[in-house]
Amino acid sequence: MNFASDNTAGVSAPILEAIRTANSGSASAYGTDAPTAEALRRLAEIFETEIAGFLVATGTAANALALATLSPPWGAALCHAQAHVNEDECGAPEFFSSGAKLVGIPGAGGKITPQGLAATLAGFERGRVHQVQPAALSLSQVTECGTIYSLAEIAALSRIAREAGLAVHMDGARFANALVALGCTPAEASWRAGVDVLSFGATKNGALACEALIFFDPAKAASLPFLRKRSGHTLSKGRFLGAQMCAYLEGGHWQELAKAANARAQSLAEGLAAIPGVRLPWPTQANEIFAILPRRVDAALKAAGALYYEWPFPPAGEPSTPPGTDEIFVRLVTSFATEEAEIERFLGSALGAPHP
Ligand SMILES: *Cc1c(COP(=O)(O)O)cnc(C)c1O
Repeated sequence: MNFASDNTAGVSAPILEAIRTANSGSASAYGTDAPTAEALRRLAEIFETEIAGFLVATGTAANALALATLSPPWGAALCHAQAHVNEDECGAPEFFSSGAKLVGIPGAGGKITPQGLAATLAGFERGRVHQVQPAALSLSQVTECGTIYSLAEIAALSRIAREAGLAVHMDGARFANALVALGCTPAEASWRAGVDVLSFGATKNGALACEALIFFDPAKAASLPFLRKRSGHTLSKGRFLGAQMCAYLEGGHWQELAKAANARAQSLAEGLAAIPGVRLPWPTQANEIFAILPRRVDAALKAAGALYYEWPFPPAGEPSTPPGTDEIFVRLVTSFATEEAEIERFLGSALGAPHP
């Protein structure tokens, strides 16, 4: 019953097998290998457009390199106040961009609103040398509250950003989970809705360590090869990244993995919602569940060996009443490897919690 994160799971069997297969013989180094070329060709095919694609080993590298490419050192990248780039990457976007500033925008349920974006943009005067100059908007899809931006929401935010001269980045660490929930094409969920650069996650959804950085306007990627090498993310044995991405995309494997994770999350959310005293502040739209649990339920779950993190309750503008002293706010994440039996045991332990 490990619901701490989707990166506590191992590697999906076909991806592990692809790594083993790629291990035979020699291959040219630094991403000039055949599996990498094939992975990038497949990404272009799946996204139905010409791309400039780059494989890296972590989501932090993908995000930080994307923002470093889109923003000069005196620029600003606007993001949600609780965004992974802002709170969970130890300053990597600022470091890789030689000092660009991240500007957090508050918003309920992990989402930036058009009003919030416009108000933040209004606080910057263009050409005023005393202020950083807004250069990029970064949207997390799935958001840090487990919610999903609709295509209309992405398009509305992209339009405002583009009119103000900003490029649009999407942190898609859980892009697959969002995509299968939206039920649209990868192109509709990204560049057709105004996204310029996508961090396309694979690790949390079954790869060993692989993410793709995808530029839908290849001209915007001119500095990326140098930034990637400079940051230590040009892997010499790049064929193993290519092999992972090929297997991930093969026959819709990536979407099957995400569907499994999302389905487990739905079971867990429905079960939790039926337990007296449990509150779910946001709808479970992908594979993350946020719940306010009575402390006695939390204690029973911990005693049964369940693993999950206590989570900081977001400050303002949230729809739910914050947790009281007899409650705890937690995050639960399912993965492609989560089994229905784990969910049943978890819910059984929560239901069995002694009443006061
Ligand atoms: C996990 C995650 C990342 C990437 O994290 P790494 O640990 O660097 O691979 C990026 N964005 C979001 C929203 C995430 O959840």
